[in-house]
Order: sequence, then structure tokens, then C-alpha cells
Amino acid sequence: MAILVTGGAGYIGSHTVVELQNAGYDVVVLDNLSNSSEKSLERVEKITGKKVTFYKADILDREALEEIFNKEQIECVIHFAGLKAVGESVAKPWEYYQNNVAGTLILVDVMRQHGVKNIIFSSSSTVYGMPDAIPVTEKSPKKDCTNPYGWTKSMLEQILSDIQKADPEWNVILLRYFNPIGAHQSGTIGENPNGIPNNLMPYITQVAVGKRPELGIFGNDYNTPDGTGVRDYIHVVDLADGHVKALKKVQENAGLCIYNLGTGVGYSVLDLVKTFEETTGVKIPYSIKERRAGDIDANYADATKAKEELGWEAKYGVKEMCADSWRWQSQNPNGYED
Ligand code: NAD
Ligand code: UDP
Repeated sequence: MAILVTGGAGYIGSHTVVELQNAGYDVVVLDNLSNSSEKSLERVEKITGKKVTFYKADILDREALEEIFNKEQIECVIHFAGLKAVGESVAKPWEYYQNNVAGTLILVDVMRQHGVKNIIFSSSSTVYGMPDAIPVTEKSPKKDCTNPYGWTKSMLEQILSDIQKADPEWNVILLRYFNPIGAHQSGTIGENPNGIPNNLMPYITQVAVGKRPELGIFGNDYNTPDGTGVRDYIHVVDLADGHVKALKKVQENAGLCIYNLGTGVGYSVLDLVKTFEETTGVKIPYSIKERRAGDIDANYADATKAKEELGWEAKYGVKEMCADSWRWQSQNPNGYED
């Protein structure tokens, strides 16, 4: 029996494949490579010494999914495949709803037709919108999202929860990620954004490697200690391990479960820049820009539930996150294109 990892060639997916293989699971990866390279999987194989079964396929392609489910003995799907650029989702809402929501509906339909009713889904802290109080717990209310990407996560949580309610044979594990950064300690796999990075850490590392002249900090008048936005950054290897630990709930037939995956500690943009400089010795020139539309002041997780129920907690701190992001970026200035 194998775990099917959709989007497994991507940033979080590739790190999760490493942790799954290290934990002894057989892994099948499905990815359309729209935002990734197959080279990530070759590097995963080098890290783990095990083969990855890979299908270049789209979750919107029912026939391709049928073929995979007919051929492979899948027991659970870890579902990462999706488009994830917030700004792009505002410009292309149809594409986001089609790819993320319609794609997941097709995937889930093929799963149930093959009697596979276990799914671990990549959700996001974005479902908390502008929280009333932080840290947020899983009981904190879901709020309006500020962009179509966020809505796809919020809607898919609802859709998967309703499917589980209607058919209790389903196990649906919703993992709400905070801000994944860092890379595998080998420096051989990591985040590889197309074009100008949207997220803070890949922007910092591209400035550090000389690809961009300076970092723009989006606002320094937020209601936070230094005025810049505060987020809960989590090492991608810890996040990957959270998926392996979440399989426990599938094995226990736990039904619907929701977990925050974060460290519980908030860092500001300036904190992260300073820690990056101190850890790597590389200076990051920056200037203060306008606020970015839709950004919130601060958010960080209460991750107690994941600790108590999954035995999971983040092991790595922000220094390791900076050092590992830098090792990846400096060894692979052009990502997987080298
Ligand atoms: P990523 O873009 O690196 O990985 C997503 C993968 O899905 C890519 O390899 C892409 O090629 C593939 N994909 C996209 N559409 C597909 C389709 N229709 N069929 C098959 N494959 C498809 O992104 P990531 O950062 O690894 O994120 C993984 C998941 O976690 C996504 O669902 C994302 O929304 C979610 N998430 C990410 C973050 C973050 O900050 N990175 C935060 C919260 C949630
Ligand atoms: N940010 C920034 N400059 C950038 C990218 C991000 O100042 O080039 C800030 C952003 O305003 C937020 C924090 O960094 O306060 C994290 O942003 P990111 O996009 O990485 O994550 P998200 O906003 O989705 O939590």
C-alpha cells in the first residue's frame, strides 16, 4: 500500500516525500509540473536512497487519475497540488477555483470510486482571515478571506468536511500551515519560485544571492512591536514531519481532524531580516514600501492540539530556517535549472 502525494514535486511536497520515505512508506507522486521540476524528485531519491514512482498528471484529468488508482495500491492521499500565488489569484480567480476546487472535486470522486477515503489536505492559516485574537487555535472562527486563493482553501475545507459528514468512512485531516520557509539540510531541495517571489524568505534569499537589489518591506506602521508584519515561520522539514504524524489519525479512523502546524512564535519582517543577516553573515539592503493589499498585522499559531494529539511539535528555530534557506539558495542560485 502506498501514499499518493499530489503536488509532490513542489516545495512542501518534495520535503514530505523525503520524510515519508524515511519513515518507511511507499510513495507515489502525481504532479503536472506547472510550478515545479521533476529534478526535485531525482534529488529526493538521492537523499533517501529510494525510488519515487512519478506520474506527470493533472488532477483535472479524470482519466489519468483513474489509471493511477487502477495501477497503484493507494491507501491515503496527501493533497498538495494547487496554485498558491495570492496576487495571481486576484487577477485569475477562475483559474484558481478551477484548478484548486474543481481539481480536488475530481480527485475526491476518483478516490471514492476506488474505495480510497483517506485524505490529508494542505490548508492554510489564511482561513483565519484577520483574527480577533492571537495565537489562533483550531476553534478560532474562520473569517472572510482577502483573495480567491484563500477562498479555495476555505471552501475546500468545507467541501471535504461535508463529504466526511455524509460518509463517515472518510478520514479527512485538514492541516493549516503557517509560513513554511527553510529547506532540507542537504541544500539539494528547496523553494523555487517562478519569477519575482511573492513570499518574504525567497525574496530575502534572492537579494542575498544578488538576483535582486533590495528587499521591499511592505509597511512599518502595523500594530506590532516594530511596525512590520508578524508571522509564524515554520521549517519546511518540521511541516513535512507533521504530515507523517498526521497519518496516525488516518490509521486510527479518526474522521474529521483539524490541526494548526506552526511554531507558536511570531517574528516580524525586521526580526527575520536581522536573524538572516546574523546567521549567514550576508547583508540584506531594504527599504520601506507601501502596505501590501490584504496583509494583516500579525498571526501565529497555538499548535497545542497537534502536540497533544499527533505528538508533533516544531523542532527547528528561525536560525535554522535562515541557515537552511540560504544553503539551498546559495548552492542553487537558479533553483533546479542548474
Ligand atoms: P508548490 O507550487 O511548490 O507545490 C504545488 C505543486 O502542485 C506544484 O509542484 C505544482 O506543479 C502542482 N500542481 C498545481 N496544480 C496542479 C494540478 N492541477 N495537477 C497536478 N499538479 C498540480 O507549492 P507549495 O508551497 O509546496 O504548496 C503546497 C500546498 O500547500 C499548496 O496546496 C499550497 O496552497 C499549500 N500551502 C502552501 C503554503 C506556502 O506558504 N508555501 C502555505 C499554506 C498552504
Ligand atoms: N513581506 C514583505 N516584503 C516582501 C514579501 C513579504 O515585507 O517582499 C512581508 C509581508 O507584508 C508579511 C510578511 O512579509 O508581513 C510575510 O509575507 P508572506 O507573503 O511571506 O506571507 P503571508 O503574508 O502570506 O503570511
